[in-house]
Amino acid sequence: MKALVYQGENTKEWAEVPDPVIRDNGDAIIQIDAVTICGSDLHILKGDVPAVTPGRILGHEAVGTVTAVGAAVSTLRPGDRVVASCISGCGRCSYCRHGRYGQCRDGGGWILGHLIDGVQAQYARIPFADMSTYPIPAGISDEQALLVSDILPTAYEVGVRNGHVQPGDTVVIVGAGPVGLAAVLTARLYSPSTIIVIDKAATRLQAAKDLGAHIVAAPDSNILELVQAATGGLGADVVIEAVGIPATFELCTTLVRPGGRIANIGVHGKPVTLHLEDLWIRDITITTGLVDTHTTPDLLRMLGHGQLDIEALITHRMPLGDIVDAYDVFSRAATTGALKVVLSR
Ligand code: NAD
Ligand code: ZN
Repeated sequence: MKALVYQGENTKEWAEVPDPVIRDNGDAIIQIDAVTICGSDLHILKGDVPAVTPGRILGHEAVGTVTAVGAAVSTLRPGDRVVASCISGCGRCSYCRHGRYGQCRDGGGWILGHLIDGVQAQYARIPFADMSTYPIPAGISDEQALLVSDILPTAYEVGVRNGHVQPGDTVVIVGAGPVGLAAVLTARLYSPSTIIVIDKAATRLQAAKDLGAHIVAAPDSNILELVQAATGGLGADVVIEAVGIPATFELCTTLVRPGGRIANIGVHGKPVTLHLEDLWIRDITITTGLVDTHTTPDLLRMLGHGQLDIEALITHRMPLGDIVDAYDVFSRAATTGALKVVLSR
């Protein structure tokens, strides 16, 4: 089969590799129907994720059709359409028992396209297949289901739910990449009164407006003044960080009101200064998290009922074999306007 193989910093190739095979009783093999590229894949290519070694097939966001299952797989059959979740779970360890699959202690967590071969390929091996795939209900398209493999649960769990967005809240979302935009969509489920989105790229601010943000602004404008004006001088109830750099996290701490919440989604590669000397007196809660994907069944149901309109998050569609070009389009998002690029077989 063909697969997108990481070959060391800044190098990748759509190469011929051996087909995946069942290695463990709990595995399934899926034929990839649609797959997408994540900001994390770009981090890997920059060499920011040393756990990914040359020869690794990348990718952790896909939908596919089951072609084979191990002897212990009880809920899947060949022919089933499934979401391959970005997070795998053994289902038995203490964290999995609490639905915290991201912290799985027994070989799960973020493994696809990271610690084992991923899904940017014609076929993929999915370990713990009963726990790590989700059947796609009839009426849900591959494209809709694809966004449930990572960005929708990430934004919903680590941003909106950790941030406890409530009806009437003012929510600030810093970063309007696919994850920040998915936070706009899933925050709206709770009817906040005002959603303010901050991003450097004009194309992404426009996308945020299209998805329902009330106010958008570039980080070089006076964001603090803008948020205070929108909240009668109080500050935001919830601030969601969806970039992953020190400047944006520190910005979040200035925008939150006393008693408010900062939900960090961004993957940080550098230390961030926490100004406890200013923050201690303001009753602020800060949450962090790796997505667990425990809300995936809920999100699929909401998609089925038309509660989440993800159409605008998909900007480019290409054949799977053009994935190297797709990386180019995705990595130049500020000029190409790319959000999610869907590659289909
Ligand atoms: P992305 O790179 O597409 O989006 C980041 C956005 O931030 C871009 O639109 C960029 O223009 C904007 N930006 C950059 N610098 C900025 C600044 N100084 N001020 C304002 N905006 C700025 O990434 P994404 O795919 O949307 O992911 C967002 C973050 O979430 C990343 O850090 C990613 O690694 C992380 N992530 C976390 C989890 C998790 O489980 N916690 C899961 C998936 C992704
Ligand atoms: Zn991802």
